[in-house]
Amino acid sequence: MTNPTDHRSRPLILAEKVFSSGRRRGWALLAAIPLFGVAAAFGIAPGTETRPLELRTVIESIQIPMSQAIDDGQHFVREERVARGDTVSAVLSRLDIRDRSAIEFIRNDRSMRPLHQLAPGRAVRAKTDTDGDLHWLEYATGQGTVLRLARTDGDRFVASERPLELERRIEMKSGEIRSSLFAATDAANLPDTIATQMAEMFSSDIDFHRDLRRGDTFTVVYESFYHHGERVRVGRVVAAEFLNGRRVFQGVWFETEPGQGGYYTPGGLSLRRAFLRSPLEFSRISSGFSNARFHPVLQEIRAHRGIDYAAPIGTPIKAVANGTVDFVGRQGGYGNVVILSHANSVTTVYGHMNSFASSVRKGARVNQGDVIGTVGMTGLATGPHLHFEFRISGVHMDPLKVALPEALPITNALRPAFEEMTAQYSEKLRILRGSNLARLE
Ligand SMILES: [Zn+2]
Repeated sequence: MTNPTDHRSRPLILAEKVFSSGRRRGWALLAAIPLFGVAAAFGIAPGTETRPLELRTVIESIQIPMSQAIDDGQHFVREERVARGDTVSAVLSRLDIRDRSAIEFIRNDRSMRPLHQLAPGRAVRAKTDTDGDLHWLEYATGQGTVLRLARTDGDRFVASERPLELERRIEMKSGEIRSSLFAATDAANLPDTIATQMAEMFSSDIDFHRDLRRGDTFTVVYESFYHHGERVRVGRVVAAEFLNGRRVFQGVWFETEPGQGGYYTPGGLSLRRAFLRSPLEFSRISSGFSNARFHPVLQEIRAHRGIDYAAPIGTPIKAVANGTVDFVGRQGGYGNVVILSHANSVTTVYGHMNSFASSVRKGARVNQGDVIGTVGMTGLATGPHLHFEFRISGVHMDPLKVALPEALPITNALRPAFEEMTAQYSEKLRILRGSNLARLE
């Protein structure tokens, strides 16, 4: 049926009969058999599923319909797909696991928790014997790992989790803002984690709650991890470009030392600056509120010297810069308020909060991006929102118009490596930008 050297057809091979030396017949696995792929039901040699196995001669191959067992006389290996509304008990029963001690272990042992978060479409595989006793069970958790339960001896079980062997790919998508960032990323079929990473990446330049304009465009280059042709998860945004009104922002990820890195402009300046453009964590939930009209009470209109961010109660509020807590508590019309003091006599104020983070105490240090509390409507507020003020030496300033110090550039030592990598991604962005090119030049 299938030539095992043909890579395209490999994932469809379920099992092959192999003649090795003499006339001994056996079962063997091929490296490319999808562990949790298209359809798989195969057996023998637990623990070797993802490792290549050398085959000398393949005489014939057979295809085993899903959910049917490979039968060596005593053992069965089955695979079941989780259906919508499925329960663990139902899946175990379809796998023909009748083993009380195994069922007990799966139900109650902490280590088996990932299995209880059944996601439709995911596969559960198990090897049992004719009595329905479990030998092993495997489940791809969706966190890039395989959860494996194996019987050691008698009624003893050992659970382990190991990483899926994943193939890293680089993918690119473009989009245009028509209503919101998430509407655009949905249309481009981008996962939310990519959208929020992109918002985070440009958070010193763009306030995604207030600055987005219809017609803004973006291009994003990101990692995806595949397992036998199926995307298991997405990884990091490695480069992105955002055209916000007439402003163009570009950033590339660069690892300055193993395991540590940040986003830089193609010129080598860090995108992370001393201050964030918005104190509000950007998420699908808070983004929908960006255009919601807030009607402040009279007192606030008269003395309004801040920016109001309408957002649902409980939305996390972040410290916009490193600093120390100057005040935390209740203060008149501000309600629950946090005041932070930063370098260069800058003070930031966060009002109407619902709750404070427990680490936020007078005199405590905070880092940029730390969650200091959540949005509420305490004090003089008619609806849930964050009242945010930015003061320099006590004078209220528009944070959007204040010139703030830039973060450090790439060091000279790292520059050659940086430029080589940037060139690569700039090229990708340029290709994808396509019709927007004219707007840039
Ligand atoms: Zn306000």
